[in-house]
Amino acid sequence: MNDAEDKDASAKLPEGEGPLALDFLVRKNIKKLVPYSTARHEFTGRASVLLDANENAYGSPLEDNFNRYPDPLQWQLKYAIAGIKGVPAENIFIGNGSDEVIDIAYRIFCDPLKDNVIICPPTYGMYEVSANINNVDIRKVNLTPGFQLDVQGILNAVDDSTKLLFICSPNNPTANNMNRGDVEVLLNNFPGIILIDEAYINYSKQKTFIQELTEYPNLVVMQTLSKAWGLAALRLGICYASGDIINLYNKVKPPYNINEASQELALEALQHTEQVNNWIKEVVTQKNFLIKKLLECRFVEKIHPSDANFLLVKVKDADALYQYLAKNEIVVRNRSKEVLCDNCLRITIGTPEENLQLTRIIKAYE
Ligand SMILES: *Cc1c(COP(=O)(O)O)cnc(C)c1O
Repeated sequence: MNDAEDKDASAKLPEGEGPLALDFLVRKNIKKLVPYSTARHEFTGRASVLLDANENAYGSPLEDNFNRYPDPLQWQLKYAIAGIKGVPAENIFIGNGSDEVIDIAYRIFCDPLKDNVIICPPTYGMYEVSANINNVDIRKVNLTPGFQLDVQGILNAVDDSTKLLFICSPNNPTANNMNRGDVEVLLNNFPGIILIDEAYINYSKQKTFIQELTEYPNLVVMQTLSKAWGLAALRLGICYASGDIINLYNKVKPPYNINEASQELALEALQHTEQVNNWIKEVVTQKNFLIKKLLECRFVEKIHPSDANFLLVKVKDADALYQYLAKNEIVVRNRSKEVLCDNCLRITIGTPEENLQLTRIIKAYE
């Protein structure tokens, strides 16, 4: 499992040289785009009277002053993340959740009605929704029956208009890591941008790919503060990439995409790595407890190996068990309509009390 801290990562990242034709991949209108310039962008230096942004100079009705626009590039927060992850702050982009990181990738690289992207179902639903919102064609190359990447299938699906490949590892909803060797083959052979979504990396035995950013200019790694860090409500998704790709992200993003409250609260939360690391260990312990209890149930047919904070459980009748749990006020995720997930429920690891309650209720089923 990975600690929340990951200090041994690389120091200097590539700046767009090498085999990647970033110039060819970026949409023409984005290359030409003159980004919005905020009041705070245009003035650097010492300022004591701020009459440049039409804010309310008197203050805000709150105790903390929120009357000033926030730092558009969130430098303090980025330096804190850089310190924890060992990646230069210049190679970090922060999005309003990973959802924004995904959406902006489409808007930088994919011309609607022309370009296409590859996703590998069953996987996280936002890659497809975001493609549909942006009117970008999707090519689906399903995972193998063992939930691994179909490397040849992916490379066969590529054409001149293929811009992005989404790899989720550990994958949601299957909970497993993608084989590192397979990902490396793709990093070396896929002619577009590869986005590796590491939302669950803190629970994984697999090492993060952020250390590989120096090797692969086509690599974008996504992480989030929504899972192990316990900050889902603040909406903070993190993206690590080459300076060139980060510059494109900054050009396209809304000027103040991360609000001041989220920036301040995240900065405070990032000081509590020990707390987060303890939770990660506790989740792994609880996961093993749940696996043991679930395997004692006759209607449980398979528990897929999990490197995340949830289990994908195959049962005799997923719809019926889902309804039964719901009637007992326990909500899980019914994934049985997804490809390769016949009769599967996705169950998040809860607190010890919640997990006990789940096992008690589930024992009474049958
Ligand atoms: C939960 C999750 C995220 C997190 O999204 P946020 O918008 O950052 O909350 C990202 N990717 C995957 C695969 C997830 O399961």
